[in-house]
Amino acid sequence: MHPVLAEDRARLTELLRSVSELAGRELAAVDARPAARLGPAPEPQPLPAEGTGTEGALARFAERWSPGFSGSSGPRYLGFVTGGATPAALTADWLTAVYDQNVGSGIGSSAAALERETLAWLRELFGLSEAHSGAFVTGATMSNTVGLAIGREWLGEQRNVSVSDDGVAALGPVTVLSGAPHSSIGKATSVLGLGRASLRRVPLQPGNREAVDVAALADALERMDGRPAIVVANAGTVDTVDFDDLRAIAALKERHSFWLHVDGAFGAFAALLPSHSHLTDGLDAADSVCLDLHKWFNVPYDSAVVFTRRQDLQVRVFHNSSPYLGPPSLPDPDFLHLTPENSRRLRALTAWFSLVAYGRDGHREIVARNTGLARRLGDALIGVPHLRLLAPVRLNTVCFTLADDPTPDRVQAAARAIAATGDVFVTPTVYGHVPALRAAFSNWRTTQPDMERALMAITDATAPVS
Ligand SMILES: *Cc1c(COP(=O)(O)O)cnc(C)c1O
Repeated sequence: MHPVLAEDRARLTELLRSVSELAGRELAAVDARPAARLGPAPEPQPLPAEGTGTEGALARFAERWSPGFSGSSGPRYLGFVTGGATPAALTADWLTAVYDQNVGSGIGSSAAALERETLAWLRELFGLSEAHSGAFVTGATMSNTVGLAIGREWLGEQRNVSVSDDGVAALGPVTVLSGAPHSSIGKATSVLGLGRASLRRVPLQPGNREAVDVAALADALERMDGRPAIVVANAGTVDTVDFDDLRAIAALKERHSFWLHVDGAFGAFAALLPSHSHLTDGLDAADSVCLDLHKWFNVPYDSAVVFTRRQDLQVRVFHNSSPYLGPPSLPDPDFLHLTPENSRRLRALTAWFSLVAYGRDGHREIVARNTGLARRLGDALIGVPHLRLLAPVRLNTVCFTLADDPTPDRVQAAARAIAATGDVFVTPTVYGHVPALRAAFSNWRTTQPDMERALMAITDATAPVS
């Protein structure tokens, strides 16, 4: 063994103690860390020929890299939709590497069964049916991609071809219908060979809504002339967190043939709140469902799940049979037959720990608190003359812009000025052709004083110079 490696092995307990101390210090100060860092990254250095050992690497990292990292795990990083890591999830993430299980196959370890237990808990948490089976993937983009891949196989089944065997060309043209799809849906259509042009936007409900007009969707399906389609329904759009009427869309199946995929990446967490669970009514009717966990579930990157009612089709798409891996065994095929990956980390452990540690009630409290903070920020911004709320705050996101002349340049400059305060980070978007900013609350640490500090920073940094 290389002597540096041997020394690290001998000192492992000590090394873990020092990284644990560093982690403790960093996390104790995460409130004070600037939400975003705008400076340049360090210059690249040459490949080290000789190693420093872990202690040296830790020192180098602390000196060169960690100062430029954002406070994205802290309470006032409101950009995109970004979760943090609860103490239980963080603990579990460390243990995931400690045990370093490969849950592609179930051979020789109970770890895959832990993933199944976690999936059953999540299924119940979100009110999905017993008919839904799940799998962990890296993020909502991958979850959407897997959901649409199963939908693509289903289209093949309707047309008596096997896409898995004969390729996507055997299908002929495909239509994917959606009102306000997340950009990852377009990416999925590209990856899956359906083509980005297969994605057709269906008109939205009138009156500042991002929810699909169900009558217009019915018309679009009618125009399919009996050819089956894929419908992507949205449970929580990124700009205004609007929800399609899932129940009404599912009811269209009585007259039309389509695969119903629901992108509920973060919006589906409304199901945890009695006050908002009507928004996800009908989620259980979906053929496939996307839920992100590294956003509002507050486990570290990267983690999401995909659920489907047609595990048989999922196996047709993803099976990876070989003499050494064996064929998929139903009803609980090894995960390598269900997802794009072959080898897979025990991604479920963080969610398992967080559910055991905090339960349904603990996760509900996070969602309720973030939702209340978003509403109060939205209410407060209504009272700021130089800012304008662009949509009602439906859940955890506040979409707003400059009241006066919100050109792309001015809004970008406002985003930079807000980030430069270090107090809060929000990200730009364009909503209804208007350049805008979004503040999304999804971190378990965020409290009322954080919201007030964010409000102050946003208000001051965008104030007109007088
Ligand atoms: C964030 C998001 C995605 C993509 O999720 P990743 O985890 O970044 O891949 C997809 N759909 C919706 C609605 C999202 O909010």
